[in-house]
Amino acid sequence: MSEKVDVSQFDTAQIVADDKRHFHHPFQLIDLMREEGEGALPFFKADGCYLWDTNGNKYFDAVGGMWCTNVGASREEIARVMYEETIKASYINPFVDMTHPSGVTLAKKLAELTPGDLNHTLFTVSGSTATDDAYRLAVAYHRCRGNFNKTQVLSRNKAFHGSTFLTQSFCGKANEKPEYFNFLSDMVHFVSAPNSYREGAGKTPEEFKTELLQEFEDKILEVGPDNIACHYAEPVYGGGGCFVPPVGYHKGIIDICHKYDILYISDEVVTAFGRLGHFFASEDRFGIVPDIITVAKGLTSGYIPMGACIFSDRIYDALASEEGRFTIVGSTYTAHPVAAAVALKNIEIIERENLLEHVREIGPYFQEQLNTLKDLDIVGDVRGSHFMQCVEFVKNKETKEIYPDEFDIGKRVSLHADALGLIVRPLINLNIMSPALTMTKEEVDFVVSALRKAIELTQDDLREMGEL
Ligand code: PMP
Repeated sequence: MSEKVDVSQFDTAQIVADDKRHFHHPFQLIDLMREEGEGALPFFKADGCYLWDTNGNKYFDAVGGMWCTNVGASREEIARVMYEETIKASYINPFVDMTHPSGVTLAKKLAELTPGDLNHTLFTVSGSTATDDAYRLAVAYHRCRGNFNKTQVLSRNKAFHGSTFLTQSFCGKANEKPEYFNFLSDMVHFVSAPNSYREGAGKTPEEFKTELLQEFEDKILEVGPDNIACHYAEPVYGGGGCFVPPVGYHKGIIDICHKYDILYISDEVVTAFGRLGHFFASEDRFGIVPDIITVAKGLTSGYIPMGACIFSDRIYDALASEEGRFTIVGSTYTAHPVAAAVALKNIEIIERENLLEHVREIGPYFQEQLNTLKDLDIVGDVRGSHFMQCVEFVKNKETKEIYPDEFDIGKRVSLHADALGLIVRPLINLNIMSPALTMTKEEVDFVVSALRKAIELTQDDLREMGEL
């Protein structure tokens, strides 16, 4: 893609060298950042769905930042809100007996948008800290009701719920959780991912659902219901690989949770604020009212850090007891007034521009077009929902064997895609996409044709290496 931008102020080689030396990235790959490693690609401009690197190249960002640029990047309207809020009040202490209108208005708006009696919001600074605080609320809820042993957690293989000390232990992605960082392994128990491509292969969705529900209930009985505080689940998996569960799965799981007095925490950090065509996927898409919903990312479309833990009247009422008085959560930047004002403007834009309807209209087209990639030799599966999609690469379509990690197949495809002006997220043998909600049909066509070309070029490399 070519579109002239002035990059004369950038010395890309120097930025890359300084970056390697001084900037420790999230999820840093040390090899890449070594002196001799290729380093990271610097970007300096973002607009809507597009990014520009410091060499002046333009890209379509099919990753949407990090699943977060829901209304698209760099809107003046949001920048104005930030400016106005900052010169009005750059910080207001929200602790205990002080508050501010933007926080109150946002909390009230979230109560309106969320399902059922989820009327209380505890703001956080990220998705991980929302997962973290949800756990504390769950344990406090049970303690307030006299259940002092209910402290353990049920999670799912390949799930991602955060990167803090606590939440890393809730993740089921083995590759992102080395054993020595799995600090709390004794208190977290895992069940299967609803992966229809692999574990569900050869079964009807109904059979697969029944099997998953049985496994879930068996796990509860094995651990002991009196020991379990809560279960975390993403409505559709994010980084684990965009698994969409069989119909009735979430409903079945929440019913089992409630049978054993286990709180159901829906991790909507990726799925909320439009990615699946609804403000919240829990009820509108899957027909469930969780006890707690955690959000971040699309809450502010990545303009400013903010997360939230939205919880039910039932939990609130239990906490309003002598035991609950000491449930200390929150920190200095909780409910930052500028972030709250940005979130409100972001929600207003989603409503005003009918972005939910847009995603419901374009999402199936995106999926249909991506499905055409299944004719390629190394494309094993294409799955996801609406603006959350992924392509899984395999060495053998029959056996579903994957290329060994050292082939870094997702990365190979993404490097070819970069050269074609498309950014997709490589995750071992997957490429993940979660574009801004404004993506048009024409942009879908560009994404799918560039991705096809990138996969074909990767196949050529593999043939040259004698691996295809
Ligand atoms: N939950 C899910 C489902 C996520 O995808 C992520 C981040 N990718 C998190 C929680 C953690 O959010 P954050 O990076 O804002 O801490």
